[in-house]
Amino acid sequence: MMSGFSRSYAARPLAGAVLLTVGLTTAACGTGSATDASASGKPQVIAAFYPLQWLSEQVGGPDAQVSVLTAPGVEPHDLELTIKQVTDLKDAALTVYIKGVQPAVDDAVEPDTSFDAATAVTTLPAGEHAEEEEHEHADVPYDPHLWLDPSRLASVAAKLGERMATADAAHAQGYRDRATKTAATLNDLDQEFGRGLASCRTKTLVTAHEAFGYLADRYKLKQVGITLDPESEPSPARLSEVAKLAKTEGVTTIFTESLVSPKVAEVLASQVGARTAVLDPLESKPSGDYVSAMRDNLKTLQTALGCTA
Ligand SMILES: [Zn+2]
Repeated sequence: MMSGFSRSYAARPLAGAVLLTVGLTTAACGTGSATDASASGKPQVIAAFYPLQWLSEQVGGPDAQVSVLTAPGVEPHDLELTIKQVTDLKDAALTVYIKGVQPAVDDAVEPDTSFDAATAVTTLPAGEHAEEEEHEHADVPYDPHLWLDPSRLASVAAKLGERMATADAAHAQGYRDRATKTAATLNDLDQEFGRGLASCRTKTLVTAHEAFGYLADRYKLKQVGITLDPESEPSPARLSEVAKLAKTEGVTTIFTESLVSPKVAEVLASQVGARTAVLDPLESKPSGDYVSAMRDNLKTLQTALGCTA
C-alpha cells in the first residue's frame, strides 16, 4: 500500500507566509505567520534531502505537511539556501537533516526544532583517504551517508516518530504507529539485502563516489571509492591504485551514479576491462521511492558481484 504515500511535495514551494508553528497559539513576534495559518493547519516538517523527505512523509502521514530543501535532480552536498528557506527553517515545527551532508543546512537549523538523523544511529568513521582529499563531508568525523543502510534508517524512523509525537502531541499515536510500520518495512528491506548479498563471487564494490560505506558495512561488502568528492578528479596515483585492486579482486563493474558525470568511472572501467553500472546513492529523488530504488540497487549489486540468491 505504498500508493497512499506517493504524493510528492518536492515540486510544491514551501508554504511561504502561511506557516503554522505547532504549539504557537499567538503571533508573538509580529510577523503574522502564526495567525495567518496555512490552509491545512498541519505542522510544517522540512526535510533536508530526499531519503529524509521520504521518511518524513511515511511517518508524518496525513498529520504533517512535509517539504524538502533540495529539489529533485540537485546534488545535495553543495546546496545553498535561499533567504526564504532560511526563514522557513526558523518557523518549521521540525527540520529533519543529517549533520555533515549539507553545510548550509547545518548552519541554518534551529537547535530546538531540528532532528539530526545521525544521532539515531551508530555512525562509521569518514572514508579512510579522507585526509588526502578535499571533500564536502570533511566537517564531521563520520561518514554521513547512513540512509543507504535500511536497518539504520529503521532506527531513524523510530526516533523520528518520537520527535514528531513531541512536536504535535495531539497526533502522537499516529506518528508512533506510522514510525513502527515504516521501521518494519525498512527491516524487511534489510532482510532482502542480507539474503540477496549473502553469497557472491566478489564482495568488492568500486564506486565513483564513496557513498556506500554503510551499505558495505551492513552486508559485509568492501567499498573502494575512486573519490570521496563527486565533483573532484582523482589523482593518477589513486586511479592506478584502484585499477590494480579491481583486477586483483575480480571486479567486473565500476559503479557510477546518476547525478555525477561517469567519465572517471568509464576511464577506470576500460583500464581494467570492466563495465559501468548505476548505483543510486539516493541523494536526489529517484523515479520510484526509497524502497523501490533500493531494490533496484540490490538487483544491480547482485548482477555486478555475481550473487547467487
Ligand atoms: Zn554524498
